[in-house]
Formats: sequence, C-alpha cells, structure tokens
Amino acid sequence: MTDIQLTALGITVQRENHAYLDLGFVPDVTEFTKQVYKMWMGSEEGIEKELEKYRHEKPGARVMSLTLDNNTIWIAFYQYSASNITNLYRLGHEQAHVLHAIGQIYLLQEKLEQKGLDIELSGYEHFEKCSHDEKELVADIGAFYVLGKYGVDVLKLPSEQNSQLISANLAWYQNALRNSRITA
Ligand SMILES: [Zn+2]
Repeated sequence: MTDIQLTALGITVQRENHAYLDLGFVPDVTEFTKQVYKMWMGSEEGIEKELEKYRHEKPGARVMSLTLDNNTIWIAFYQYSASNITNLYRLGHEQAHVLHAIGQIYLLQEKLEQKGLDIELSGYEHFEKCSHDEKELVADIGAFYVLGKYGVDVLKLPSEQNSQLISANLAWYQNALRNSRITA
C-alpha cells in the first residue's frame, strides 16, 4: 500500500489499490493527456474516448485515472498560470477530486470543521453517484480551503468567477467563512 499524499490539502491517506502521482506543470494539458494515455496504453487507440471524459473539465488542470488489474493510479498535472492564486486553486481542486474519488471526503469535512465552517459534504460522499456539478462543488470547496490555508483572503476573491458554478461554490464558501465560529 502506498501513501497518497495530497500535500496542498495537508492530507495523507493510505488506500488499497490506489496511488497518486502529481506531475506538476506541463505546457499543454490536452497534449499531455494524450501523451500519458499513449504511454499507458501503448497506442492511440481509444484516445478520443479518453479525451471525451474530460470535456466538461477545466482546461487548465487535469487528474487522469488509469486502471490496471484493479489498481488505479491518479495522475494530476496543471498548466502554469502567472497567477499564484490560480495555480493554488488548480492544485487544491484536483487534489480534492482525488480525495473524493477514493472515498475519503470526510477528511476534508474534518478540516472544514476545524475552521468552524458550516459546510456539509456528507451528502456527496459517494463519488460515483455524484453529478458533474456535485463533483465540481466538492473540488472547489477543497480548492478554497487550500487557498485559505496558504494565506489567500478568500473573502476578497471576486464574486464573479470564470463560470457560474465556481461563483456559486465560492459564494457558499465565503458565506461559511463570514459565519465561522472560529475567527482566525
Ligand atoms: Zn474539476
């Protein structure tokens, strides 16, 4: 069993049959997805179907899941942004996706509770049953948590984000921050 180190979230877990690899910044997320897929599969066959899986995902970051003999490896990579906030957001977002997918979202829940945040994720525990928007919600909550952890004032982030979904998720997180039982 290997440690799954989600360093941005500050969470390390051990899971049977799962591994996590963070490859950091890559020049082009889509091109890199193709390269990883080709290396893994040994051919380009099925590559279009693989890319189709990510059609709703953000273009600046990705986590791929590759399975062999019941073992799954999660591989995350990102496009570099001149904005550190964007880089941190992407890192936190993808790591939260992994945490969610391996069934350990309660660990993020604990982190939120330690901050006195009234955000309830227990309804989203089962990754497979979550809709795309619900998965994005969990990942964004993880991302905002990471931003705060690294000293970004999340309350000052503009309420209008790139997508309505992120804006809504941010509004929820900011509201919880304003009502936090713990001031820090
Ligand atoms: Zn996502």
